[in-house]
Amino acid sequence: MIHRLSTLFVRTLRDDPAEAEVPSHRLLVRAGYIRRAAPGGYTWLPLGMRVLQRVEAIVREEMNAIGAQEVHFPALLPREPYDASGRWTDYGPNLFRLQDRRGVDYLLGPTHEEMFTLLVKDLYSSYKDLPVWLYQIQTKYRDEARPRAGLLRGREFVMKDSYSFDVDDDGLQRSYDAHRAAYVRIFARLGLEVVIVKAMSGAMGGSMSEEFLSPCESGEDTFVRCSACDYRANTEAVRVGAPAASDPAAIAAAVVHDTPGTPTIQSLVDLLNARTELSRAGTPWAAADTLKNVMVMLQYPDGRREPLAIGVPGDRDVDMKRLEAAVSPAEVAPFGDTDFAAHPGLVKGYIGPSALGTASSTGIRYLLDPRVVPGSAWVTGANVQGRHVVNLVCNRDFTGDGVIDVADVREGDACPMCGSPLRIERGIEMGHVFQLGRKYAEVLGLSVLDEKGKQRVVTMGSYGVGVSRAVAAIAETSHDALGLRWPRNVAPMDVHVVIAGKPGDETATTAEALAAELSRAGLQVLLDDRAGVSPGVRFKDAELLGMPVIVIAGRGVANGVLEVRDRLTGTTTEVAIAEAPQRVLALARGVA
Ligand code: ATP
Ligand code: MG
Repeated sequence: MIHRLSTLFVRTLRDDPAEAEVPSHRLLVRAGYIRRAAPGGYTWLPLGMRVLQRVEAIVREEMNAIGAQEVHFPALLPREPYDASGRWTDYGPNLFRLQDRRGVDYLLGPTHEEMFTLLVKDLYSSYKDLPVWLYQIQTKYRDEARPRAGLLRGREFVMKDSYSFDVDDDGLQRSYDAHRAAYVRIFARLGLEVVIVKAMSGAMGGSMSEEFLSPCESGEDTFVRCSACDYRANTEAVRVGAPAASDPAAIAAAVVHDTPGTPTIQSLVDLLNARTELSRAGTPWAAADTLKNVMVMLQYPDGRREPLAIGVPGDRDVDMKRLEAAVSPAEVAPFGDTDFAAHPGLVKGYIGPSALGTASSTGIRYLLDPRVVPGSAWVTGANVQGRHVVNLVCNRDFTGDGVIDVADVREGDACPMCGSPLRIERGIEMGHVFQLGRKYAEVLGLSVLDEKGKQRVVTMGSYGVGVSRAVAAIAETSHDALGLRWPRNVAPMDVHVVIAGKPGDETATTAEALAAELSRAGLQVLLDDRAGVSPGVRFKDAELLGMPVIVIAGRGVANGVLEVRDRLTGTTTEVAIAEAPQRVLALARGVA
């Protein structure tokens, strides 16, 4: 089919939109693929629609190929199922809640575990019906705290979500593996490089889960990749290898010292090393010898607030994203001056284990980094202004209420599997596969009769692909300074033919004839037949719009040649007019 730029509903912009922070957002708006309609909400223009539909088609084909069946739920959902699962509350401010004219509560679906569970419960009752895999490609709503980067993080976005239902754990594993394999094929066809990483389950609950991340500087997720073994994990999910517990008998008794003016770790370390009576033979004090106690305030979805103390080695900080993932669905707020005022037992800058823990005077829960093992000795706050305690030994002189693994993860840290250095990269989360287990089936009462006539609670998996996000991620990883550069499988058009002369002249008739022939051969052809637009603007637009093949009918036409440009490699060749159709077809089909 031929699509004429003279009538196509598109306007390219010369300037970058002011609010665009990342290349995909900037280019998709500039090239006329999307327009912002609301905060975190975008209108798909014809070219954008075509890319979205091609991405959807690939996802749909691969889901159908593994035997998943497509259904479609409303986005406007009743409250009750989400009350039963706890997510009406747990989703907190991220959920769009609304009421109908009679004052009945509804929500706009952020993801549909509850509804799928109830649907299967409605229709199935025997183990013979299972496994069953259902999916939809549907618009989701989340009142994201930070909608950003255009389609990458919207408040309204398109997701493919599927759900598997099995009688036993082996079945769940098979369902999970089939989805995981389908995802590998989906992202390969989309032209997106992905790294599969261990992930946290978040508000979803459940056990085993992995994410598909597209490595990219502008990604919001960070992940580690071991330089030696195949360990890969979202930094949220990294579990630090704890050192072996040691025997405290060899360590001298804890002593409190005056350390005036040392509210920071560095000032403390400097003072320790400057004091001869505190210096250690041969090994100067380092930040890693100190124990820093960080206060935060947890805010639960039901409105409850709880102070939390976290003890980490002084050379590390608490990583807020890791902490948020660990305490979800609670949110993390700073522990402010009014909070300190409300807890006079805490001496700011000198907080020590003596004042922490549920058994202490303050009763504040105290969780320790995995490196704070039994028998390890620390320099830490004495909970008195200007004083620290040296040789405070874990499980001899203090105990925590548990372990929390939320200190920052750094380039070069030891891999928890093999000890080799970890590398840190950024990526965009493209997909997520979860073994949910029986949580939703239990609370919503989904069970089936097994061979022996006994009721068995069904075990579930849940699998998501960010469909609209994929459009942006592809643009993010496939563009150059001139514009977009769509991989063939998702490009809105196969070829962009530019008339570089005037409508009606020889370049125009040659271009029209070529477009007609390519169209007859089955290609989607974008023809720039606009009147009153300079050749310079047409060339620029062709690069910006990013079709994989560009043909220019310009001055060469007089000598019997066309310019054929491979937008993906950037190479341009002159091709005889008669040979152009074959050449373009081969390029467009990726067999050149
Ligand atoms: P994120 O960590 O990026 O907020 P999530 O873990 O909350 O994502 P899931 O619930 O796993 O997301 O949703 C499945 C997929 O939907 C994600 O892997 C992602 O590709 C996509 N997705 C999630 N939130 C958004 C959003 N706000 N805008 C666009 N796509 C999204
Ligand atoms: Mg996720």
